[in-house]
Amino acid sequence: MYDVLIIGAGPAGASAGIFAARAKKKVLILDNDKSGTKKAWADNHYAVMGITGYDVFETGKKQAAKYGAEVKLAEATAIEQIENGWRVTAGEDVYDSAAVILATGAAKGLARELGLQMKTGKDEGRTEVIAVDEEGRASMKGIWACGICTGQSMHITVTSGDGARVAINLLSEMNGKRYVDHDMMC
Ligand SMILES: Cc1cc2nc3c(=O)[nH]c(=O)nc-3n(C[C@H](O)[C@H](O)[C@H](O)COP(=O)(O)OP(=O)(O)OC[C@H]3O[C@@H](n4cnc5c(N)ncnc54)[C@H](O)[C@@H]3O)c2cc1C
Repeated sequence: MYDVLIIGAGPAGASAGIFAARAKKKVLILDNDKSGTKKAWADNHYAVMGITGYDVFETGKKQAAKYGAEVKLAEATAIEQIENGWRVTAGEDVYDSAAVILATGAAKGLARELGLQMKTGKDEGRTEVIAVDEEGRASMKGIWACGICTGQSMHITVTSGDGARVAINLLSEMNGKRYVDHDMMC
């Protein structure tokens, strides 16, 4: 049983995974490696003088794994409710988790099939996005969502920040108090 299962390892999902794993939660990230982000070259990434989308993607996954997240190349094909959380199917495998974070980028099929409430997005071509409350909760308890699948603007720093924000809100709910992750130079 995982505490947090994240679907999508783009900037939103991997960033959420870093925070959840550093909070000592049992974390699984599934990604089917279909992101367009890998083709990007970003000159607008705060505090970084230019970076490829490929490096953003691969470093994000490594960073989440460094703090204990399991990262698997797999396509999530179904989500169903179980007694104490959610069951995610990926091919022959099933994974159970107390909470699920959807960070599926342009892909919204899973959310639609699950019956999550959707809404109209602002970006051209993003007509339907997952409706979330201001903390990142989708319309079913225990399902959260972040990044462009919720209509966030299509930028790496925005989506990675949104993944962190939503993970912090989920961690705060799980722990019963506001979660803060700070380190200091010794
Ligand atoms: C060519 C290009 C250039 C860009 N240039 C810039 C730029 O210069 N600056 C900038 O800030 N932004 C740029 N962007 C935009 C930016 O990369 C994205 O908008 C943003 O990072 C999306 O982040 P995300 O995590 O929400 O989604 P994504 O990065 O799309 O991640 C979603 C992940 O979920 C996976 N996934 C989806 N469904 C499933 C499933 N069922 N099971 C498992 N995995 C699943 C996908 O394969 C993908 O890996 C560019 C994008 C492109 C395509």
